[in-house]
Amino acid sequence: MIEYSYPLYRPPAEADNIIIQATYGCSYNNCTFCSMYKTKSFEVRAIEDVFNDVETLAHSYPDARKVFLADGDALALDTEYLLKLLKHLKQSFVKLRRVSLYASAQNILNKSTQDLQLLRENGLNLIYYGVETGSDIVLKKITKGVNQSEIIESLNKASDAGLKISATVILGMGGTKYSDEHIIESSKIINATRINYLSTLQLGLEEDAKEKFYKHFKDFEMLGDIELLQEQKKFIQLLNPTNKIIFRSNHASNALHLAGNLPREKERLIQELDNALSVGEMAFIPSMFRGF
Ligand code: SF4
Repeated sequence: MIEYSYPLYRPPAEADNIIIQATYGCSYNNCTFCSMYKTKSFEVRAIEDVFNDVETLAHSYPDARKVFLADGDALALDTEYLLKLLKHLKQSFVKLRRVSLYASAQNILNKSTQDLQLLRENGLNLIYYGVETGSDIVLKKITKGVNQSEIIESLNKASDAGLKISATVILGMGGTKYSDEHIIESSKIINATRINYLSTLQLGLEEDAKEKFYKHFKDFEMLGDIELLQEQKKFIQLLNPTNKIIFRSNHASNALHLAGNLPREKERLIQELDNALSVGEMAFIPSMFRGF
């Protein structure tokens, strides 16, 4: 078997799929709320070592159809490296249908549209993208390194290249003071782009992230579950996407699990939120069963 470098993260939807670590860590690693890769320095692995992992896993799982490229933003890799890896994956997994990875706005904006199209033509299908918030005020406070217009530009650039996008927005990211700003500006991003999947998580801060987080976001006050679900309701109300979006709110952090298609099932999702809010905390998943 292969040896992974831990901690190792992958989207919930990739739980049963092949994971190949082409990079270690995150090339940016500076968002104040995120402690995922604080113990790792960003590193591009030697492609021969990655090929060895591919061959070992292909031998053990010859019928695998889906591969996720880790770690935090494998789209930071050179296009040439990624093309070699995508070709090797196609040769090794004969039933391969989908290759996905985490990507940031910076990764996408650093590539030409032609490079993104080339990656798509060679088997990269899906990118997982953390929008987190659409508010320029909050983006600055969490030191995300990009603004709203760059997020919109990068998402549209990826869609134009034919890549499917699974995006996440973090409920509570603006705290009490910027809650409305966070939700209104985040909805503008979804309405101005053509993402395919959307998830909402609830903000949770690991102990080791708190000092840096509060240093940059001095007026932050955490929202409770009821306020977070009110944010979620407002967010869904404001969504008017031009394309069909598969919406999921079923992350380990969520107080209430929701699933539906937008915009078609918007009213039903709002009704479910209203029902839960009218019952209160008894309707929520107990916090002891949740995590971030
Ligand atoms: S949120 Fe994403 S881009 Fe930001 S530090 Fe964490 S892994 Fe890197």
